[in-house]
Amino acid sequence: MAYGFDTLQIHAGAVPDPATGARQTPIYQTTAYVFRDADHAAALFNLQEVGYIYSRLTNPTVAVLAERIATLEGGQGAVCCSSGHAAQLMALFPLMAPGRNIVASSRLYGGTITQFSQTIKRFGWSAKFVDFDDLDAVKAAIDDDTRAVFCESIANPGGYITDLDAISAISDAAGIPLIVDNTSATPYLCNPIEHGATLVVHSTTKYLTGNGTVMGGCVVDSGKFDWSASDKFPSLSEPEPAYHGLKFHETFGALAFTFHGIAIGLRDLGMTMNPQAAHYTLMGIETLSLRMERHVQNAEKIAGWLEGHDAVDYVTYAGLKSSPYYDRIERICPKGAGGLFTIALKGGYDACIKFVDNLEIFSHVANLGDTRSLVIHSASTTHRQLTAEQQEAAGAGPSVVRISIGIEDPKDLIADLEQALAKAGA
Ligand SMILES: *Cc1c(COP(=O)(O)O)cnc(C)c1O
Repeated sequence: MAYGFDTLQIHAGAVPDPATGARQTPIYQTTAYVFRDADHAAALFNLQEVGYIYSRLTNPTVAVLAERIATLEGGQGAVCCSSGHAAQLMALFPLMAPGRNIVASSRLYGGTITQFSQTIKRFGWSAKFVDFDDLDAVKAAIDDDTRAVFCESIANPGGYITDLDAISAISDAAGIPLIVDNTSATPYLCNPIEHGATLVVHSTTKYLTGNGTVMGGCVVDSGKFDWSASDKFPSLSEPEPAYHGLKFHETFGALAFTFHGIAIGLRDLGMTMNPQAAHYTLMGIETLSLRMERHVQNAEKIAGWLEGHDAVDYVTYAGLKSSPYYDRIERICPKGAGGLFTIALKGGYDACIKFVDNLEIFSHVANLGDTRSLVIHSASTTHRQLTAEQQEAAGAGPSVVRISIGIEDPKDLIADLEQALAKAGA
């Protein structure tokens, strides 16, 4: 039976605890699991039987979370990891090799731009950043060494909506996977797999957990990509020496990427989610749809109010009719454009500093997707190291403030913004 989202966000992946009947998923605070006998242990280590060995690879609490997220995203399997950034590396690792590249949207979370433009170079990988609204440029950037296309569904920091259908048509034609970071949208607002994504990555730190308590990430596999169609993905299609020549795709089919993520990725890179973090995130996901509805309602009200304010130059929220992305909402994220956007203040850098310093309910933090409303002035913080040109290109110029709308009373949020804007203009 196909349950609705509101049912799945509470039940998917979970059954009453087989040992005790506990209704809530227990926190399995253990590093290891007793083997039935030596044959059982050998079968587990050979991947001939699926079971728990050691919590760097799998843990029952984390496994419930992985299955819940996979179900909500409409994927075949998922691997949870220690952070969103870990999830991005875990998604790329089976695909990449020295000399290979990815084609990535220029509109990404700031930390992802740094990870892709600097840190992955140490592995011999590289990224080409392209404006994903320029489809010809995306096509032109893909070459024989490209192993993935990467974008965000609702993109940081401005809340822009990516035309996933158009982008997946390009990656399909090139025979390479599309990886979509669905952190800002969540599976409640957007289902990237329905729009052709091969893999979906999450920072579960944000809306999925929802209250700013624990770090986490997840890679969901659609199970739809044919890893053996070309010789581009030998880690998945060719014999794996560390498992006696086992071929992941041939052996595990639609679960090849998930098994590789656990049996190679977590085993050797060790970016494991801990069961406490999985517990907090499972608690958060139970109310995901309720929170996202309120985030969207509040963001629509507040973005509309800000757009009419004299001190505000522009508001980037895609849910506003003035947004060039407004037309994509119905197709890509029909339940709304999320809770994240930027505003530019006419008073420039100085006004932004006074604005963020005078807000009382909104917190000035480097986070988003919390029940609390949050702001950050990127030019003086996360994007401080960039040149003026780079800041503008990233949508984080000196007059821009990023806003993550929480689920508080919107009247109170508007009053707070109003008094801070008044002080910023003084
Ligand atoms: C926060 C974030 C990340 C990184 O996740 P961490 O959990 O902080 O490592 C990646 N992508 C997006 C869109 C994010 O918001």
